[in-house]
Amino acid sequence: MSEFISKKLLKEKAEKYGVMLDDKALERFDIYAKLLVEWNEKINLTAITDPEEIVIKHFVDSLTVFSAVEIPQRAKIIDVGTGAGFPGVAMLIARPDLDVTLLDSTNKKLNVIRDILENIGLEANVVHKRAEEAGQSKDYREVYDFATARAVSNLRDLSEYCIPFVKVGGTFISMKSAKADEEIEEGKKAISVLGGKIEAKKTLELETAGERTVILIKKISSTSNKYPRPSAKIAKNPIK
Ligand code: SAM
Repeated sequence: MSEFISKKLLKEKAEKYGVMLDDKALERFDIYAKLLVEWNEKINLTAITDPEEIVIKHFVDSLTVFSAVEIPQRAKIIDVGTGAGFPGVAMLIARPDLDVTLLDSTNKKLNVIRDILENIGLEANVVHKRAEEAGQSKDYREVYDFATARAVSNLRDLSEYCIPFVKVGGTFISMKSAKADEEIEEGKKAISVLGGKIEAKKTLELETAGERTVILIKKISSTSNKYPRPSAKIAKNPIK
């Protein structure tokens, strides 16, 4: 059967970050890439449509999370602002044991995710809510082992969106490209106020795509009920 992406390339590059993909996972990534490009003709999901670039900049980039932190079997994870499923859907394909929630404020993107999940035969909780609303609901607040976010907001504001989801002892994983140090500096007060502590910063070279940084923020105490605030307040009066 013909392939849309090079499964060989994906398998090799994922292995470099310690992620072993079996034939089933590679097949699922192939279907995912094909549907992503098809849907992208109807709604704007990504500027990256070349199959090789999808492999590196979306799939392998998402999988680098596993090289930065050990994620136990059946861990409960929320991907905040998942968009077309990065890193959440990619993590689920690599690790179908995970209990993944995919949250986004744009339902048309979540409809694409629903279609992709159906076609690859995997289940996740798909939640159409704003992060700052879900973070105040007992269904989502402080119930996750991990929260992930890639390309959603600056670390300071993103921490207010994401840290409330994480239970004490859990970890917020923030995926950044350039300027991670500046964002850490700008965000460290907010991280502490929200009950977090920067545990590690792992910088890696993503093939030809440049530097990436995975920031691990440990939740060391419960977040005050005051947070997260409505997004207008976060924007107007950030924690600093
Ligand atoms: N994480 C994906 C990725 O790396 O490809 C998508 C990144 S996209 C630039 C940002 C996404 O975050 C969009 O899908 C947007 O709808 C979502 N988003 C932004 N603010 C949000 C909020 N307050 N609550 C939930 N989703 C939000």
